[in-house]
Amino acid sequence: MSTTVKPRIAVHKFSSCDGCQLAFLNLGGELIELTRRVDIRHFLEAGLDDPDADVDIAFVEGSLSTQDEIERIHRVRKHSRYLISIGACATSGGLQALRNLDNQHDQWRDAIYAKPEFIKTLNHARPIADEVRVDFELWGCPINSRQLLAAVNSLLFGVPPIEERDKVCME
Ligand code: SF4
Repeated sequence: MSTTVKPRIAVHKFSSCDGCQLAFLNLGGELIELTRRVDIRHFLEAGLDDPDADVDIAFVEGSLSTQDEIERIHRVRKHSRYLISIGACATSGGLQALRNLDNQHDQWRDAIYAKPEFIKTLNHARPIADEVRVDFELWGCPINSRQLLAAVNSLLFGVPPIEERDKVCME
């Protein structure tokens, strides 16, 4: 990463409850400090809307549960140097993946929504890594704010998070 230009960051939401994005906002003063060192290009929860911006790090919350999300995650991957999936929804499918059990998609949809005919979802909810290359995963429901900050700081100092270091260095 350049030392003269601020690293660019994006936070993307897919099918999720927004709880993992709150881990950013819960950083409080440390988030303000972080914004001095990075350029946050896309983060809807914080009022920043530029989903196709080229970034150094893209954080992705949520599972892949609709056709639109499948198409969108490929755009995110294309525009991101590192992609980090955050939280149980993004790393394993989360609660939405209950529909995968015994192919119960239709039963869940019909039981939950008053007008299920308007709901366009895929039969299965899948983790981000099922569809695109993921450089690092942060687990938890929600993720831990300190863990998140540690991952960001590692990447800002040009050090890939530990589990992926060998893989990235070989690229
Ligand atoms: Fe919400 Fe948990 Fe999914 Fe995070 S992992 S978005 S807290 S349900």
